[in-house]
Amino acid sequence: MENIKSSASNLAVDAAPNGDVISGAGSHLTSGLGHLVRANEIDVSHGPILYLEDVNVSFDGFKALKSLSLSIDVGELRCVIGPNGAGKTTMMDVITGKTRAQSGKVFLGQTMDLRRMDEPTIARAGIGRKFQKPTVFEQHPVWENLELAMKSDKRWFAALRAKLDAAAQARIEEVLSTIRLEDSAYRLAGELSHGQKQRLEIGMLLMQQPQLLLLDEPAAGITDDETMELARLLNSLRGRCSMMVVEHDMDFVAALSGEKGKVTVMAEGSVLAEGTLDQVKRDERVIESYLGR
Ligand code: ADP
Ligand code: MG
Repeated sequence: MENIKSSASNLAVDAAPNGDVISGAGSHLTSGLGHLVRANEIDVSHGPILYLEDVNVSFDGFKALKSLSLSIDVGELRCVIGPNGAGKTTMMDVITGKTRAQSGKVFLGQTMDLRRMDEPTIARAGIGRKFQKPTVFEQHPVWENLELAMKSDKRWFAALRAKLDAAAQARIEEVLSTIRLEDSAYRLAGELSHGQKQRLEIGMLLMQQPQLLLLDEPAAGITDDETMELARLLNSLRGRCSMMVVEHDMDFVAALSGEKGKVTVMAEGSVLAEGTLDQVKRDERVIESYLGR
């Protein structure tokens, strides 16, 4: 990992042209980082991390979301299933500020009204989003992708100027190990398999230490083995962040939700059913609209 270390220190010089050093950002950098850089802590003292109530979105009169209500608990890994056109991606667009809801409540914790925040502000508040297609820097090595992802978080990077070397290296190595790409650290991202690229992109999101991760069909188009490896990765993130995963692959959903996890079924812009995977699979309306007989 010697290369990583020296390059990270070069970056430190780039990032701090004015030579600013944040005082007090010392030995507790890695452990207390979230507190250092997150000016607006998410208030989850009285309830869920994500709260949607009666959300409506129409596109030229077509109602993509109809009175959608849903909430995600802190630390929860929620799977969302439902037929194409159910509004799952639109829901993520509303949460991340890409699409504006016409009415309803969309809150991160108790205090952050996401309808009043723009996309970059929402991302900085701690919501990371993974789109279906992996978007990695193909011409760069794997570890550099992680480094670049960290660099785009300006406040994190600023807070790290003093100790960038050690802390950045530790952070990159930790994420490499989490996404199980240590052995591919020096390969170009473009050479990775589709499933490895998906894991790398999740690693890039993790570099920003999100509180809530939104993943839209992350298992689409990857092999069965890679799908289970992805499930293993997401399961390992429990406790580190809350997650919402939209997916069609039922084995993947089963691997994520287990016997007790809550699964949300969406259809025609609202919640059709909610319960364990077993419960929703036996729900007549779910069978009718999604699973088929
Ligand atoms: P899902 O992700 O569940 O498959 P989407 O949220 O992508 O569903 O789409 C829900 C419905 O809203 C679809 O009928 C889709 O065609 C429509 N829709 C989504 N985005 C737009 C848009 N920007 N303009 C017009 N219609 C849209
Ligand atoms: Mg979709």
